Amino acid sequence: MTAEEILSKLVSFPVLGGESNLSIIHWIKDYLEKHNVEGVLVPNEEGNKASLHCRIGPAVSGGIILSGHTDVVPVEGQDWNTEPFDLIDKSDGKLYARGSCDMKGFAACCLAALPDMVKADLKKPIYFAFSYDEEIGCLAAPELVQAINDYYDEKPQFAIIGEPSMMIPTVGQKGICIFETVVTGSEGHSSRIKQEVSAIHEAMRLVLWLEDKMNSLIGAGRIDDRFTPNHTSIHIGKIAGGIAPNVIAQECKFNWDVRTIPSETPQEIFEEFEVYCRSREKELRSVFPDFAIKTSNIHPAVPGLNTQADQEIVSLTQQLANEQKLDAVSYAAEAGQFAEGGFEAIICGPGDIAQAHRANEFVAKEQLDKCMNFMQNLIAHLR
Ligand SMILES: [Zn+2]
Repeated sequence: MTAEEILSKLVSFPVLGGESNLSIIHWIKDYLEKHNVEGVLVPNEEGNKASLHCRIGPAVSGGIILSGHTDVVPVEGQDWNTEPFDLIDKSDGKLYARGSCDMKGFAACCLAALPDMVKADLKKPIYFAFSYDEEIGCLAAPELVQAINDYYDEKPQFAIIGEPSMMIPTVGQKGICIFETVVTGSEGHSSRIKQEVSAIHEAMRLVLWLEDKMNSLIGAGRIDDRFTPNHTSIHIGKIAGGIAPNVIAQECKFNWDVRTIPSETPQEIFEEFEVYCRSREKELRSVFPDFAIKTSNIHPAVPGLNTQADQEIVSLTQQLANEQKLDAVSYAAEAGQFAEGGFEAIICGPGDIAQAHRANEFVAKEQLDKCMNFMQNLIAHLR
């Protein structure tokens, strides 16, 4: 099967982040088995989702993991001109479908190159690692990485995550962490604003503290020019509180995210924020003894990627992709999780992230060709 034929099959499984991916993962597993490669499933606790890994080539240390996710984002509310889960060739050099770009194109190239990988007398192995629930926060990758480390006695050296990067080696990725803060104040008639504690008023103070914190990091020169924007961002994206203009709000909650450049940690920001929250509690409990601010991490932190230009994976990927340029991205991906697992990691895959997550998503055929060249170069390199 060609990459295009496999891609057509892969996009026909409408597996959204959060949903069971067993349909697509079993199709991949069967495909591997037809080529005498054993796919190992890494199921979740409920048994309705699974990641998959496999090894092609000898049981020796070293070699490369090629990784991608099997889930996609929803199409609801988007203005699609074609059926999103059919791969449509409009003869304009582009293949349209949800997931064509992010990121089943890369998986299709891996699978299309499999027969050649199997036939080649590889000196170092190639691993495939396919995850689920990436689109709802890179949830499955840590377990998949752990499973690879546990299952094989030999350790792979590199990991290439095929997120759409126009086949440009991408060495940096921001980390992300999402929080929810709940402020509990005291209800009352709005005329009593000095005798009660408004949860909304206090929440506003906290929101501004977070914005000031971001600006103070920028002011302190904590920037990384590989990224746009070149600093850690803190953003409050959702807020709710109060019931009427004349009622002092008893509760206000807001959700915020921190997207860190690799040299920063969300932990540091969170801890400083907590110190500030405790000081507000101390002050306001003289007015209302049950005043409280509680912040919880509503999503596991996804680490950034901070691969250095002189690491071996960088020159290798440049050589395989025939591309000297290096890039960094501000979106979250699984590459940082693979790096934490002990593999030199990089992002490099077909398609443009600008096409991802939107209506009429496509991957250029020329990008798939580039990725297939990459696979052939990889086989030649490991032979
Ligand atoms: Zn993706």
